[in-house]
Amino acid sequence: MEITYWGVRGSIPVPSTQEFSTKKYGGNTICLEVRSSDGELIIIDGGTGLRSLGRDMLQQGFGGLQQCKATMFFSHGHWDHIQGFPFFIPNFHKTNTFEIYGFKNTNRSLENHLRLQQMTPNFPVALEEMGAKFHFHELRNWHSIDTGGIKVTPFPLNHPGGCFGFVLDEGNSKFVFATDTEHYSDKIDENILKAAHKANVLVYDAMYTPEEYEGINEPSHKGWGHSTFVAAIDTAIAAEVDELVLFHHDPDKNDYRLDLLYKRALNYLNRMKNEKKRAKKLRVKMAVEGLNQII
Ligand SMILES: [Zn+2]
Ligand SMILES: [Zn+2]
Repeated sequence: MEITYWGVRGSIPVPSTQEFSTKKYGGNTICLEVRSSDGELIIIDGGTGLRSLGRDMLQQGFGGLQQCKATMFFSHGHWDHIQGFPFFIPNFHKTNTFEIYGFKNTNRSLENHLRLQQMTPNFPVALEEMGAKFHFHELRNWHSIDTGGIKVTPFPLNHPGGCFGFVLDEGNSKFVFATDTEHYSDKIDENILKAAHKANVLVYDAMYTPEEYEGINEPSHKGWGHSTFVAAIDTAIAAEVDELVLFHHDPDKNDYRLDLLYKRALNYLNRMKNEKKRAKKLRVKMAVEGLNQII
């Protein structure tokens, strides 16, 4: 399976400026493209990265005269995970069909949530006027969906209002997406541990440094539903994953500060490699817009 990162920024898009460069890591909010070995398309989350993916898909011949199909999975309804949806050009092609999987809370479903996002006066085109066919499906924790080549299993994360993580399995390849989520102070999250066990790649929420999380020189971010690079590495070691991708970058961190966070993460990883046998094979990288992985 092949994964392309179209948006890796948390909370809000951050365009690069001279004073605050985000050129290296990218400013678009959350969106990933996953291709099965026979080319089937899965999209995870619809932040502003989805707009760039849509333009790429059109160039690759998706939409227009031929009938095209893709499956979308939404982790939760926070803005940084849905705001690219109205600007996703393949949605405006009648020949396209999207199978869309998401939450269904008692008083709100993903379908209603996406519909409200583009109701007047928010956006000029209603969901049902866009053109493409949308089929909505409810996600349930630990109930797998077979999309063809790839099996997708949702699992619960620790985030205000709830959030799904996803395990993607194809043959011997295993990819795990775990954002947005907050770690526990006294234990590794058992759901992530179970989901990410021996994964080839774990994408994990590493928005904060431990000091920012605790609130050493600023208000604490405890209870905000996000995690740290230390918790990311501890989780990856415990789950025996091959590669950890630090994800959901803080909009207040420019390239320079993300470089510093990565340096500190690598120092912590090296310390753990000396202390824990399980840490030896772990590789850690930063999510970068445009990153492409084949596992
Ligand atoms: Zn988020
Ligand atoms: Zn969120």
